[in-house]
Amino acid sequence: MASLSLEGIQKVYSNGFQAVKDFNLEIADKEFIIFVGPSGCGKSTTLRMIAGLEDISGGTLKIDGKVMNNVEPKDRDIAMVFQNYALYPHMTVYDNMAFGLKLRKVPKDEIDKKVREAARILDLEKLLDRKPKALSGGQRQRVAMGRAIVRKPKVFLMDEPLSNLDAKLRVQMRIEIAKLHENLGATIIYVTHDQTEAMTLGTRIVVMKDGVVQQVDTPQNLYTKPCNLFVAGFIGSPQMNFLDAEVKVNGSDVTLSVGGHELPVPADKKQALIDKGYAGKTVILGIRPEDVHVAATFTGENAGTVHSTINVYELLGAEVFLYFDVAGTQVTARVGSGTELRSGDKASFTFDMSKIHIFDKETELTIS
Ligand code: ATP
Repeated sequence: MASLSLEGIQKVYSNGFQAVKDFNLEIADKEFIIFVGPSGCGKSTTLRMIAGLEDISGGTLKIDGKVMNNVEPKDRDIAMVFQNYALYPHMTVYDNMAFGLKLRKVPKDEIDKKVREAARILDLEKLLDRKPKALSGGQRQRVAMGRAIVRKPKVFLMDEPLSNLDAKLRVQMRIEIAKLHENLGATIIYVTHDQTEAMTLGTRIVVMKDGVVQQVDTPQNLYTKPCNLFVAGFIGSPQMNFLDAEVKVNGSDVTLSVGGHELPVPADKKQALIDKGYAGKTVILGIRPEDVHVAATFTGENAGTVHSTINVYELLGAEVFLYFDVAGTQVTARVGSGTELRSGDKASFTFDMSKIHIFDKETELTIS
């Protein structure tokens, strides 16, 4: 398997549009890297440049230390799995998987060994004689994976490979892909729109916006330590609550003032606000829905309490989302389904201030 290095990678399309700007990333052997970001942010373009399907306009792409910018796609030792996994309808599963190897004139017995091994890994052994039309969506997707696996490429590139599947199959295939990554010890780069896929599959996630990498980090760190407002809002569902807050400093006491509520700033964040001159300024307070508690149920320190009226009650089975306004901004609380609160009720909510994020209103960067 392989390591990859993207140094200052850029893409300018022939119409002058710059789709990828100064993309830098070192990918270690066996990593599972996820590209996420809003539609049009340059995820597929970056993947296609790695595959060699798109010219690289600037920067250097290396695989295992060798520069690949001008190497033909077929010589890059990369396999790509797309969302429309176009299998050959007239060929059996076996022949679909064997096809690429036949083209490369690999000896027949070697092809047979590779196809049977891939079929074993993907649990396709009983389906080898079937044609694609006699397979379920998930089985077809596995055959598409099989076609990539038999080549034993250094790197797998996957562009939303599960987006054509229904919700239940997606979950199954997600687990298959996680197993595959483990079994093959493969380096995988994977583009997705799906937060759960990103959070569960990735060893690291690359968050992109407008062709620019915003943050590269483990799923856990992206969730707990987003570097800016965009990443904070993009990762997590329901999304993080954002409220304008005035920084009030009174001696060693620092509070965030939101619509008349004074919320205490925890010790680890006080100093940064004072040292960086935020006293009296407006910042953005970020708090995730699960860190907003019904006041009576929160016993932790660092509590900041707000009072409001519940606009909407949403039961999702195991949990409830409560929506209410604070200073004209909607806030979501994610609480247990045992709550007796309903729409129209007046209630007090406690922000667990030890979990808050604070952002600069101009630069939108995290203040820390
Ligand atoms: P999605 O999630 O919708 O697939 P993406 O993040 O993969 O989006 P890309 O397909 O990489 O985005 O496209 C990045 C930007 O480049 C988009 O604004 C797109 O319109 C533009 N783009 C893509 N292909 C071309 C092209 N051949 N010529 C000009 N612009 C292009």
